[in-house]
Amino acid sequence: MSKHFLSELTGSFATPALENPTGVMMEAAYRDLGLDWRYINCEIQPDDLENAVLGARAMNWRGFNCSIPHKVSVIAHLDDLGESARIIGAVNTVVNRDGKLIGENTDGRGFVESVKSSLELINKRVVLFGAGGAARAVAVELALAGVAHITIVNRNQERGEELAKLVTDNTSAGAEYHAWTKQYQIPDETDLVINVTSIGLFPNVDAELDINTESIKSSMVVADGIFNPPETRLIQTAKTKGCTTVNGLGMLVQQGAIAFEYWTGKTPSIKVMKAALSDALDITDLDSTDLESTEK
Ligand code: NDP
Repeated sequence: MSKHFLSELTGSFATPALENPTGVMMEAAYRDLGLDWRYINCEIQPDDLENAVLGARAMNWRGFNCSIPHKVSVIAHLDDLGESARIIGAVNTVVNRDGKLIGENTDGRGFVESVKSSLELINKRVVLFGAGGAARAVAVELALAGVAHITIVNRNQERGEELAKLVTDNTSAGAEYHAWTKQYQIPDETDLVINVTSIGLFPNVDAELDINTESIKSSMVVADGIFNPPETRLIQTAKTKGCTTVNGLGMLVQQGAIAFEYWTGKTPSIKVMKAALSDALDITDLDSTDLESTEK
């Protein structure tokens, strides 16, 4: 085959983009499969999003990720939505399918993949903190994956109630909103506790969820969507209680792997993606609990 010098293009549109490590793991996975593909991390302001999407169309990008604050606003510039993105109402991955830009959402599926090895999800009871974009994705995909019931705990009542309704209207799982009362008491029968708020995200690493820590039982799996830092206060507390824990790095890698498959049609090496991420984020012990869920 004759040589050519035209790479396939993918990337990310977000602001701030400075600390987004996705490109490092994506390009490592491209190289690993011998794909001449690039991932370009772009700082895009809200007013420039439309032009950025037009640019991606003009340059025939194969796809791109959208992160804060574009996950909802990008929908107006796309040709169609996949099923879960339509239910969730947010897009984190855009796929160029025969010249049409289709919005998908891989955040929730990424979370489900990351937690699956620690917990069989069918018929489980979940307490989920948060009702923002990522929480919507996680709640919908957990419900589609077969959990029995999700209690949504959120500071803003309207957003919390809307998410509970979204789940019950679109899936067979039960869901209810619970006000975030002081020292929230996690019900004993809970199997999975998840933080999908931004509490504890860098640089506010000492911020803690207002939970009665006595209500965290060793039988519960405790997960955090935050990957920076991987060891949030919630994860630390859960470990001291003897819980199985799942940090946000698994979700980050898995949502990226699903986007990779959408774009290239090929399955990336999770190991290669994790190794690239651990290098980029200076995590020294690759197979430690930083990248794998901990087993009791
Ligand atoms: P949003 O801004 O859409 O939602 C933020 C959520 O956090 C809301 O539920 C908000 O509550 C809640 N919140 C923020 N501050 C407080 C506070 N001080 N007290 C109580 N609640 C608070 O963000 P996203 O949904 O996009 O992201 C949420 C988190 O998930 C982030 O930390 C992000 O890093 C992480 N994430 C991780 C991914 C991964 O791959 N690991 C992928 C995507 C996101 P309210 O509604 O009351 O304002």
